[in-house]
Amino acid sequence: MHNPTTDIEQMIQELNAIQLPGSLMESFDAYREDTLRTATREFTSSQLNWYLDLLNRFRGPDDQKGSLLDVFDPEMYTVNHPAWDEPPGTRIQMPALTSEVATLADRNSEFADLAREEIREFCDLAESFADEEVLGLARIAQAALVDQKTTFHSRKDAIRYVALNASALLEDLWAEDDSLWLRAPTRQIEFEEMLAKRQTDLRRNETTRPVFEEKDFTCYADDEIRAFAFDVRTLLLTGRARHLAICPRCQRRLEFWTGLVEKLRSRYSTARGESGCIRAILLSACIRI
Ligand SMILES: [Zn+2]
Repeated sequence: MHNPTTDIEQMIQELNAIQLPGSLMESFDAYREDTLRTATREFTSSQLNWYLDLLNRFRGPDDQKGSLLDVFDPEMYTVNHPAWDEPPGTRIQMPALTSEVATLADRNSEFADLAREEIREFCDLAESFADEEVLGLARIAQAALVDQKTTFHSRKDAIRYVALNASALLEDLWAEDDSLWLRAPTRQIEFEEMLAKRQTDLRRNETTRPVFEEKDFTCYADDEIRAFAFDVRTLLLTGRARHLAICPRCQRRLEFWTGLVEKLRSRYSTARGESGCIRAILLSACIRI
């Protein structure tokens, strides 16, 4: 049966899938997704679900994650990282992984106690998994973390790596006191040009989506954004509304300006109820895709 809500949800999902990276961190994130997709290709979806289930049991009921990408997320340690505001690029400096921090921690520290406890716990939980399966999970973790250095020689290496990098207890410790993480040498990571790669994907029209044209990739000028914020219809008249659907940077700019305009309008009591207009624009843009 036709269900408009499902249509809108599906549209929003499709919109998310075609977002172009708008910052250096988003480029890194797009690369991470691609790397993980490649690494998980050799596994069936039920194997991947077993892994996620194992990791969620390890993390405990209060710290569940919805995907392997979320369990092994190096970006959770980057709250104030400048890369969130830098333009898309191919080189990023990331904090050390928890498994690297562990090699520097004092043997008698709280970190080392927790790390030993977590490794033991994960070792017990993974008992029924064959060596090959544990090593497979470690390679998945490595891909999601974009760790280009570590190699695994044994089940023990793999267990240690997964336990330390998936540990919710160590994440809590980091939230309380991140000095150990800050002292560890940062990771210098080079990766593919994801903005260009995503644009190529969109041009190639690998799915049922229509092909995006060159004009759809150009960011709006400042005066255009301001005009759109005052009157949404001007955006639709440009014939370039599609760009908004794929560019988080322009979405943020428009959101900012719309906020200002709304503030002005409410100050002069002439509000015309245009709140939530970004969503409306996105949906209109989507309908025109
Ligand atoms: Zn843009």
